[in-house]
Amino acid sequence: MTTHANVDPVEIAKFEALATSWWDTEGESKPLHDLNPIRLDYIKSHCQLSDKNVIDVGCGGGILTEALAKSGAHATGIDMGKMPLDIATLHAIEAELTINYQQITVEEKAQQSAEQFDVITCMEMLEHVPDPLSVIKACSQLVKPGGTLFFSTLNRHPKAYLLAVLGAEYILKMLPKGTHDYNRFIRPSEMAAWCRQAGLEVSDITGMSYNPISKIFKLSDDVKVNYLMCCRKALD
Ligand code: SAH
Repeated sequence: MTTHANVDPVEIAKFEALATSWWDTEGESKPLHDLNPIRLDYIKSHCQLSDKNVIDVGCGGGILTEALAKSGAHATGIDMGKMPLDIATLHAIEAELTINYQQITVEEKAQQSAEQFDVITCMEMLEHVPDPLSVIKACSQLVKPGGTLFFSTLNRHPKAYLLAVLGAEYILKMLPKGTHDYNRFIRPSEMAAWCRQAGLEVSDITGMSYNPISKIFKLSDDVKVNYLMCCRKALD
């Protein structure tokens, strides 16, 4: 693979390794499948998707990308993992969905397609990237003035270490050990500051909480573990 400044090959390799189980709703991607309905509801409560140009940055095997396409969006998915993209492409064919998948960095995509997208989603990806601010800035370049952006990540809070690292990887074994590096988790205040630095307005922050007894994720006021952020780019 050609080396790119803002791509960590170790991180990409983790997702290449689990690509074949990406669509197994009971496998290692189960948390992403379980999160998907609530994050889609969140997106729909903040913007229209029908006939909109939407790009899913760090799309992996396409769990959210397909849900966006099914909601009527013209969906593009980009990632730097080849295997997840191959799986995503095949799955979209089976699901009879037209999705444009591309192996490209978001920084390069922003050079090619500035201000082409109404909506940007970038979920569970920033905590795997060496320079998250560069990704946020590229997302800001990709969105049209007046467009909406959604980011989600894990908070660098002890509760996230307990639940998302020890709980999910070591106790419940929902994720392979080593999936997440606590030092790369991002506090909401840092994320909000980066969004503002990228010329975006932060319009909402909402938590996503997991109940290990009911095994259900819910949107919540608790942003200590996993959270979503909705931003807008002002009209010119
Ligand atoms: N957004 C998807 C997948 C999350 S898993 C979802 O929430 O369902 C994280 C994804 O980020 C993986 O597919 C991985 O390959 C991708 N990724 C990590 N670093 C990246 C980078 N620098 N550029 C593009 N994709 C990256």
